[in-house]
Amino acid sequence: MATLYVTHHACIDHDTGDFHPECGDRLRAVQRILEAEDFMLLHRQDAPAVTDEQLLRVHPRDYIDRIFRTIPEDGHRHLDGDTLVSPGSGEAARRSAGGVVVAVDAILRGEVNNAFVAGRPPGHHAETARAMGFCLFNNVAVGAQHARAVYGLERIAVFDWDVHHGNGTQDIFQADPGLFYASTHEAGNYPNTGFPQERGVADNIVNCPLQPGATGDAFRAAVDQTIEPAMRAFRPQLVIISAGFDGHAHDPLSHMRLQVADFVWATQRMMAVADDCCEGRLISVLEGGYDLPSLAGCVHAHVRTLMGV
Ligand SMILES: [Zn+2]
Repeated sequence: MATLYVTHHACIDHDTGDFHPECGDRLRAVQRILEAEDFMLLHRQDAPAVTDEQLLRVHPRDYIDRIFRTIPEDGHRHLDGDTLVSPGSGEAARRSAGGVVVAVDAILRGEVNNAFVAGRPPGHHAETARAMGFCLFNNVAVGAQHARAVYGLERIAVFDWDVHHGNGTQDIFQADPGLFYASTHEAGNYPNTGFPQERGVADNIVNCPLQPGATGDAFRAAVDQTIEPAMRAFRPQLVIISAGFDGHAHDPLSHMRLQVADFVWATQRMMAVADDCCEGRLISVLEGGYDLPSLAGCVHAHVRTLMGV
């Protein structure tokens, strides 16, 4: 089984200031752990810059232009209270989305079975025309639309296990019956969306909010009883994970109590769905995760699982 790892050093240069949880050290921690001997067999590729044509499949022209116009020559500028940009943010955002595009290419050309894409800024809060929650462009949506436009895929499923609801991905997917979005997230946490009654045009949205303090038992029950059956019924031709590791018990931005073993279990469940529905085609894309030792530990175990070891 071949696994591709996609990242780019320019994603570290998206500078969010001194005390921001979504900082370059997150990606440094991920890159450092994936340099270990355990990962010698990973295929590796630098993330290319996403093109305007690829972004335009998800975001309107005036939105894309506005994001790049906002990027300052020095210092920082805010897009909302906690989403800000610095001189390196444009290049980082292009590489972060471009990483998912190149992972789609590698998998649909049959070069690898699955992939882990580690970029930043993250993407799942970015709506069609609104940057928020540390996110500028919706990286997984750009990848999904690339898979449809270039490879003719008709059904693509995303499971978002980040502790925050991916309002952006839901916004982009909800009116499109060829796109499926399922999420587990902490009820009441940012951005306070993702209620079970939000179901999309074709029951293609599945939200499983979990109570603050929830452990792996509740998380696994939601996947077992609700998310995995709905995803299998959808018969995806590509599975994408929005892999945020901020549901870990030590994370400062949540009150959930997931452990590394829970992320390994969920990785295995999604690999089983991909095996049964689409020849194992699976792309995992980094979203949140703000306690650096926990993030590194989760990524280590997650990528080892993707590699089948
Ligand atoms: Zn998050």
